[in-house]
Amino acid sequence: MLFVESRGNDGKKPVKVAFSEAILNPAASFGGLYVPESLPSLGEEFLKSSLECDYKELAFSILKSFDIDIEDELIKEALDLYDRFDDPENPVPVKKVHENLYVSELYHGPTRAFKDMALQPFGHILSSLAKRREENYLILAATSGDTGPATLESFKNRPNIKVVCLYPEGGTSDVQRLQMVTEEGKNLKVIGILGDFDDAQNALKELLASAEFRKRLNSMDIKLSAANSVNFGRIIFQTIYHFHSYLQLCRNGRISIGESVDLIVPSGNFGNALGAYYAKKMGLPVEKILIASNANNVLTELIKYGRYDLKGRSLVKTLSPAMDILKSSNVERVLFDKFGPLRTKELMEELNEKGGYSLTKEELAALREDFDADFTTDEEVREIIKEYAFEYGYLMDPHTATTIKIFKNNSGRINIAYSTAEWTKFAPAVWNALKNSDEKIGDLDALVDVAKMLNIMIPVVIEELFNKPIVHDTVVSKDEIRGEILKFLEER
Ligand SMILES: *Cc1c(COP(=O)(O)O)cnc(C)c1O
Repeated sequence: MLFVESRGNDGKKPVKVAFSEAILNPAASFGGLYVPESLPSLGEEFLKSSLECDYKELAFSILKSFDIDIEDELIKEALDLYDRFDDPENPVPVKKVHENLYVSELYHGPTRAFKDMALQPFGHILSSLAKRREENYLILAATSGDTGPATLESFKNRPNIKVVCLYPEGGTSDVQRLQMVTEEGKNLKVIGILGDFDDAQNALKELLASAEFRKRLNSMDIKLSAANSVNFGRIIFQTIYHFHSYLQLCRNGRISIGESVDLIVPSGNFGNALGAYYAKKMGLPVEKILIASNANNVLTELIKYGRYDLKGRSLVKTLSPAMDILKSSNVERVLFDKFGPLRTKELMEELNEKGGYSLTKEELAALREDFDADFTTDEEVREIIKEYAFEYGYLMDPHTATTIKIFKNNSGRINIAYSTAEWTKFAPAVWNALKNSDEKIGDLDALVDVAKMLNIMIPVVIEELFNKPIVHDTVVSKDEIRGEILKFLEER
C-alpha cells in the first residue's frame, strides 16, 4: 500500500511513497500529512477469524492487511514490545464498569499512558529502518507530559536515532518530569524550558522550519524526523486496539459479531480518534465515534456546528493537560478522507491564515455520519472521578473522566470508552477530586494517600521514580535551546 499527501502534491516530492518513506520523512507537500491511498477491508469474516487471536496475532494480521513494506520478521520483533506491558497476554484489558459502559484501558505500558500503545513498537521499526539505510535521525519532541516519557522510553539506546525532548519546567506533574529526567540512554537529551508548553512547541516548530538548522544537521550527517501523531507510523498501531476492544466484548458474550457499538475517545491531537475512524472504515461495526474534550473545546464546535474557530481563543490549562490543544493535527486526515486534497488544502490554509474555517452544511452532515462530540469542565471531571471511585469502585484519571458525561447522555447503545492514562500520572488532581479539596499536594503524598484511601497499589515503575538519580538537569531559556541541542549532537 502506498501513501499520498493530504494537501496534494507540489511537483517536487514523489506523488506516492511507501510506508517506510512516510514514517522516516513524514513532512508532505504544502505542510500536509501522509495518508493511506486506500484502506484494507476487515469485515465480519475477519472479526470471526480473529476471535481466537491474542493481541499480537491480531496486530500482526491488521498490519499485514495494510500491505506495508516492512518484512514479517521486523513486524514481529516490534510487536514483541507489547511483552513489556503488565499482562503480555492481554496488554489492553477491557473492563465492565456499568451495564452499557466498558472501559478499554490503554495505559498498561511502561510509561502508564496510551502513547506507549504506538510508540513502543514504532520506535523499534523506525530505528531498524534508519540502521538499515545507514542514516542517522534526530527526533525532536515537545511534550506537555505524556509524549515525552513515551518517546524517550521507545528510543532509548536504539541505534541511528537521537532524541531531544523539550518540556515546560514546572508545567508537568512530578511523575511526568521524573519519568523524563531520570531516563538513561546515551542517545537521549531532555531539556526543561523556562516557559509553558506553547513556548516549548513554538521553539520546536521554529527549529523544524529553519533551513539553517537543517543544514547544520546535514553537515553532521543527521536528518530530522518526527515521532508525534502526524507520523502515520503511530496511527497504524492505533487502529489495532479498537478491533481488540470490540472483539473482547464478543469474546465475553456481551455482543455478537456485527452488532454496533459507540466508541468514546478523549481527544487532543485526534490520533486516537483517527485510529477509530479508520477502524470503522475498515469494517469494524461502530455506530458513532464520540469525541470527548475539555474546556479547549474546538473539536466539539467543529463536530457539532461545522466551524473550526481559533479567533479570540487562547489555550486554557485544565486538569487533563494532554488534551489542552487548539490545533488538532489529525483532523486533517479526516478532512482529506471525506473531502479530498484540494478542499483540505483550502481549509487548512484558512485555519493558518485566518484562524478558522467553516464547513458547508453537506460537509458537516458527512462528518456527523461518523462523529459526535461534547466537552467536560474541570468541575465536572472532579465530580465524575469521585462518583466513579466511591460508587462504582472504578478509579480513573482526569482524561478518562471526560468520556463519562458523553456516556451518560448516550444511553441505549453499548459504549467502549478509552482510558488513556493511569491515575498515578495525575495523582494530585485525583486526590483533590476524591477529597473534594483545592489543597496543594505533591505527587508522592497524593499517590500514597490515594492508594491508602482506596486500598490499591502504586505500580513499582511509578514508586521507584522518586529514588532514581536525576540524569538530565538542563533547564534553559527559549533562545538557548538551539545551542543546547547542537552541543548534545556534537558531543558524540
Ligand atoms: C495524548 C493523550 C490524549 C490525546 O490523544 P490524541 O491521540 O492526541 O487525541 C489523551 N489522553 C492522554 C492521557 C494522552 O496522553
